Amino acid sequence: MKYGERVLEELKKNHPGEPEFIQAATEVLETIQPALDAHPEYEAASLLERIVEPERVVMFRVPWVDDNGKVQVNRGYRVQFNSAIGPYKGGLRLHPTVNLGVIKFLGFEQIFKNSLTTLPIGGGKGGSDFDPKGKSDMEVMRFCQSFMTELSRHIGADTDVPAGDIGTGAREIGFMFGQYKRLKNVYEGVLTGKGLTWGGSLARTEATGYGLVYIAAEMLKELGTSFEGKTVAISGAGNVAIYACQKVQQLGGKVITMSDSNGFVIDENGIDLPAVQEIKEVKRGRIKEYADTHPSAKYYEGAGLWQKVKVDVALPCATQNELLIDDAKALVANGTLVVAEGANMPTTLEATQYLQENGVYFMPGKASNAGGVATSALEMSQNSQRLSWTFEEVDAKLHGIMVSIYNAATSAAKQYNLTKGGKLDLVAGANIAGFMKVAEAMMQQGIC
Ligand code: NDP
Repeated sequence: MKYGERVLEELKKNHPGEPEFIQAATEVLETIQPALDAHPEYEAASLLERIVEPERVVMFRVPWVDDNGKVQVNRGYRVQFNSAIGPYKGGLRLHPTVNLGVIKFLGFEQIFKNSLTTLPIGGGKGGSDFDPKGKSDMEVMRFCQSFMTELSRHIGADTDVPAGDIGTGAREIGFMFGQYKRLKNVYEGVLTGKGLTWGGSLARTEATGYGLVYIAAEMLKELGTSFEGKTVAISGAGNVAIYACQKVQQLGGKVITMSDSNGFVIDENGIDLPAVQEIKEVKRGRIKEYADTHPSAKYYEGAGLWQKVKVDVALPCATQNELLIDDAKALVANGTLVVAEGANMPTTLEATQYLQENGVYFMPGKASNAGGVATSALEMSQNSQRLSWTFEEVDAKLHGIMVSIYNAATSAAKQYNLTKGGKLDLVAGANIAGFMKVAEAMMQQGIC
């Protein structure tokens, strides 16, 4: 049995209750074998056994008082996965589906994603099963203060710098930052995604969505075309989806669908983005409301978006495992050219394989959504220098980083001659490129 397979088998045996983590580890370990074959010294140093084990996991009680005076209790997590190339960095997810396996999957992905950004950041992730939806601002504040009271013991500007993720936006980052400052009596860049007047970076809000489209544009370029005149499907209607839609439209593409966890809208005239922003960002409403004011749009309850549209480009931007095998079959049958993941692991392993084997040019999230964390690292740089760069400066750096991620993934795929369905295998390419930098750092730092 090959080294990668052996470690994966052990992992499956030891973590049967963490399916998302196993899924993420499978994708990485099954694709980096060519690099492992070229470096037998990694096996001798048990490098993979170390890389799949978080350096530290913190789990804690988060008690808070709701508006009725009742005590509520949630569970908080921070997984500090790997600090070989820099302080732990990764978002905080607030969603009822959060559990240790989900946070471990996200933290594991984050190691390789952060490595791909070319910036000096390690991998971590955290969050809670708290659901901000339907809570008052004061309830969210009390939760965030309690969450940070414990988390503050484990993080710091040079140790671990959390950021936003699903359910953690500017409001939550503000409440958490305020509490950290009170507890530590220090004003430091301990969180990213901060407000612009207190250490935040211009273009951070847009970064993940814009970065996704920058890399998808590189993919289209390789296929000899561009976004101009292309139809595009985007799932989700949150931070990533909204700014992906904005950039696609700026580049001349037509986005015809967006969604939330209740359902999706299709507007063949092209999505009216300001209307979506009003519903989701201002009113915190549901995507269904879009169809009420747009006669050209139709609302569909539930999932199934990918099977209802015929598009050139698909950008899944909602959540993990939202693009399944039947969705992949429909995309292939409808002639989709490019799939680039905005969310983390939105495509199942089976669906990914099907898309790749049938000639769809596919980019995994750890490469294509890395623009968010890359810009977070740029926020850290600005905080250290006590400077604020302009939107254009940050956006230009983001664009350069996404192009270099694309080049790193394609170069690794070419180096090891990895293709699928007649296209470069960018899943393997991105994994190998991200892995090699971390692996070399770990080898040089001794057994730790
Ligand atoms: P948001 O919370 O802003 O938006 C998430 C969107 O996805 C919402 O429209 C939400 O709908 C929808 N959604 C969430 N869960 C489900 C579900 N189970 N089924 C269907 N739809 C769902 O999050 P972000 O846009 O920030 O994040 C989206 C994805 O991108 C996540 O996978 C995240 O980890 C990843 N990501 C985000 C980065 C960032 O900078 N924000 C960086 C890198 C990755 P509803 O409102 O109904 O919940």
